[in-house]
Amino acid sequence: MSGSEMEATYRSVRENVESVRARIDAAANRAGRRPESVRLMAVTKTRSLPQIEAAYAAGVRLFGENLVRDAGEKYRSFRSDAELHLIGHLQRNKVRAACDVAACVESVDKLATAEAIAARCREAGRAMDVLLEVNTSGEATKSGFASRDGLVRDLEAIRFLPSVTVRGLMTVGPLTDDERSVRRAFRSLWQLREELRAGFPGVDWSELSMGMSGDFEIAVEEGATIVRIGAALFGARPTP
Ligand SMILES: *Cc1c(COP(=O)(O)O)cnc(C)c1O
Repeated sequence: MSGSEMEATYRSVRENVESVRARIDAAANRAGRRPESVRLMAVTKTRSLPQIEAAYAAGVRLFGENLVRDAGEKYRSFRSDAELHLIGHLQRNKVRAACDVAACVESVDKLATAEAIAARCREAGRAMDVLLEVNTSGEATKSGFASRDGLVRDLEAIRFLPSVTVRGLMTVGPLTDDERSVRRAFRSLWQLREELRAGFPGVDWSELSMGMSGDFEIAVEEGATIVRIGAALFGARPTP
């Protein structure tokens, strides 16, 4: 990147961060929530290090990556006060690398994954925060626990794993322009969290990670504490 391209990147990312943050704050205010209760995550899949640096310079401290390999390359020596969450499906053979780089795995959708994280983190002498991913859209291509019963069954074991701390729930909303079905999906995640809070009061249910570039304002209105934003900060993803 040339110097002027770099400057343009920093400027556009800063403007985008400010405008997304303003929209988050407005949505929170509409819903009678404190704007500080919603964290903005910059989702950096396919993005370059200068773009990530630009988001950091604009004040973002929470980052998300889908692939462990990319996360390792970009974040292993990134700023020490930045927090990285893995938001993509975590394959078993990537758990070791994930435990080296991430503060939280948001995409835990079965007991075996949580067990593998616990085993590796215990070896490494660290703890890992996790969110349980829920399929709220019913779309077969989406990952996440498909049923409340399945989640509860695995949670019975996950909550006692050493080195793994459940912090809440995550979902990817349905891919549609129909605002009502998006809102229904986010509301169902909030509702599920309330049920789980009642059934498992010893677990920390603080986080609801939901909302992406196309639907984050609805998610904030429905209780999101983390919104995961890529395109609205960095522009449309380059098509491969
Ligand atoms: C890519 C991705 C996002 C961000 O999507 P945008 O539409 O670019 O904002 C959020 N969450 C997950 C799980 C993703 O894979």
